[in-house]
Amino acid sequence: MPKTAFLYAEEYQRFDYGPTHPLRISRLNLAYELIKAYGLLSMPNTRTVEVQRAGEKDLLSFHSREYIEVLKAANAGIELPDGPFFGLGSDDNPVFKGLLDWSALVAGASLQAASLVDSGMVDIAFTIAGGLHHALSERASGFCYINDAVIAILSLLKRGKRVAYIDIDAHHGDGVQDAFYRTDKVLTISIHETGAVLFPGTGFEYEMGSGQGEGYAVNIPLPPYSDDELFLYAFNETVPSLIEKFRPDIVVTQLGVDSFRSDPLAHLNYTNRGFCEVVGKIKEISPRWVALGGGGYDVVNVAKAWTLAWAIMNDVEIPDEIPKEFVKRYAGSGFENGKLRDIGYMEEGPGKDEMWSEVKRVVAFLKEKVLVKIKP
Ligand SMILES: [Zn+2]
Repeated sequence: MPKTAFLYAEEYQRFDYGPTHPLRISRLNLAYELIKAYGLLSMPNTRTVEVQRAGEKDLLSFHSREYIEVLKAANAGIELPDGPFFGLGSDDNPVFKGLLDWSALVAGASLQAASLVDSGMVDIAFTIAGGLHHALSERASGFCYINDAVIAILSLLKRGKRVAYIDIDAHHGDGVQDAFYRTDKVLTISIHETGAVLFPGTGFEYEMGSGQGEGYAVNIPLPPYSDDELFLYAFNETVPSLIEKFRPDIVVTQLGVDSFRSDPLAHLNYTNRGFCEVVGKIKEISPRWVALGGGGYDVVNVAKAWTLAWAIMNDVEIPDEIPKEFVKRYAGSGFENGKLRDIGYMEEGPGKDEMWSEVKRVVAFLKEKVLVKIKP
């Protein structure tokens, strides 16, 4: 059994993006409770780690001083005149009380996860709050203020590690790609709904890094409504061979689950069955693994998917029947069918042929133009 760590803080629940915002922080608590209900935090190989906030120095390893000062002022929950210049105060990135405390907590968890894995204390660490992959060095974007993924990867680079980043969120991992676009020290891979229709409008296959970094940014855009079958094909044809060639010491993943059929923000049609196959494959190809959460706006999906992912990380089979007490406790929250795993779903009809040819075109392009550039 692998040694694993699960990172969580009761304190997450103190923060709130606001009543109409799609990102519900309560989803983290729901996932944590479901994982606990399955007994997955009391196994001998696993430890639960209480999260500590990242310090200012850690935040400054990626973000500009000016931006951090603005976040400090916004932390009081008051709109600032120059907020919009830094992406603050929009519907996506509201100014709420404690926004910097919240972001520093998320980043602290990702840093701890990286350090636990790097030190060899554990083989795998999972921080479900992490994966806020859109934040830029001087700007909030896409619900993300501080880019915990970049900060965690930078901490590993500082310790001389070679890092591969795999992002399976419905949205392109633009903030992480940007941070490492010109270096061959980090391989970034993002598989997502095409930027032609979805925020942030980037992540096309021809974005492949530049200078030293050419070939070290890999993008696998999928057409809207792509299902498990297309997702698995695109992933399996590209990601394992990339990791094999790059030979990272540590793999960092963003396991967003807004790519699921019932998610309200994106248009992909994965189920947690396809998701689990990919998570299992990531486990197989990762020498050591720092797992971050990510998007996910149907909170039932989030709880189920990350419970399944955590079970896979620990090599445990869990029953499909959700523990009765949990279903009772969360009556009316969407767990009524009492099952953990989704029913399989395949996109049907003539549109599927076009989707197949588009995905095959992207995979062929990557094999010919991008995958060949990686040097071990
Ligand atoms: Zn997303």
